Amino acid sequence: MIVVMKVGSGDKEIAGVVKRIESAGLKAHVSQGVERTIIGVVGQIFPELEGMLEMLSGVDEVIRVSKPYKLSSREFHPLDTTVKVGGITIGGKEIVVMAGPCAVESEQQLLETARAVKAAGATILRGGAFKPSTSPYHFRGLGEPGLELLAQVKKEVGLPVITEVMSSSEVELVARYADILQIGARNMQNFNLLEEVGKTGKPVMLKRGLSATVQEWLLAAEYVLAQGNEQLMLCERGIRTFETYTRNTMDISVIPIIEKVSHLPIIADPSHGTGKWYLVIPMALAAVAAGADGIMVEVHPNPDLALKDGAQSLTFANFHQLMSQLKSVAEAVGRRLANPSIKVKS
Ligand code: PEP
Ligand code: MN
Repeated sequence: MIVVMKVGSGDKEIAGVVKRIESAGLKAHVSQGVERTIIGVVGQIFPELEGMLEMLSGVDEVIRVSKPYKLSSREFHPLDTTVKVGGITIGGKEIVVMAGPCAVESEQQLLETARAVKAAGATILRGGAFKPSTSPYHFRGLGEPGLELLAQVKKEVGLPVITEVMSSSEVELVARYADILQIGARNMQNFNLLEEVGKTGKPVMLKRGLSATVQEWLLAAEYVLAQGNEQLMLCERGIRTFETYTRNTMDISVIPIIEKVSHLPIIADPSHGTGKWYLVIPMALAAVAAGADGIMVEVHPNPDLALKDGAQSLTFANFHQLMSQLKSVAEAVGRRLANPSIKVKS
């Protein structure tokens, strides 16, 4: 349920509505727009509530929200959310590019890649230290030494870092090193983990589950938001369909859908979305044309030798090509690439 306040209603009226909601044992979520204030009601709503709130001073109308997700919905929060990382704003006019290897393998691999992607215009360095792996016999990441390498390279190159956290018990550790905590597709419905990353207050990127519907995805987002952490963005990374030609099916249409139903920024990951390096550039361009706020792509100095996801990793030359094409597409849709020359605190 949302309470739409009258244009010009003041703090006193807003406080009155909040008090009424809280005294009914519910939570009020105030969203101040340019003209109007909207108050979202979260909790077990009872039938009499609508009438009770309608009577209060300053209230224009009370609308029932049919969708089960609330804090992540645009109805509750009409203005776009922006996520702030190391001087960059995600979800505004600028398109952010997160690039780097699938997995951190060595100092040389990470440093070389970070320098190359930064020179080509990337804004955030990606790299997994804790890697989800379908097979227990494959490379599962360097663990904490991988996080240390990320911190060292971040300092040397000057790019904020995003890295995955896989379990609740590792949230504190990963949060010490990461500027953005990534929740991987396989963990989208690990509700305890979602609550833990919510509690950190740090920026979080929530990837779409392998077979998750939009509703399931936004309900997962709700777990992070419910902890009071609004520094959240979503990431489309392909879904499982009948098609086996590609690793996953990149759902470009979900980008404008998310923009319509949610206020959260949406990032696209065409590397996992396709599994094939030669599809990464066209899908990245399509994602930005469709309204994505950023892209995440895997880049490796030598994809043939990558310990993970080499087949979907771009070479430095291909990444360079992607960036120049992306600039034109961003401009064609009234956006621009984020400036990589940002300052990062070590
Ligand atoms: C990754 O980004 O390296 C990753 C494992 O992604 P996903 O969770 O989308 O498979
Ligand atoms: Mn990967």
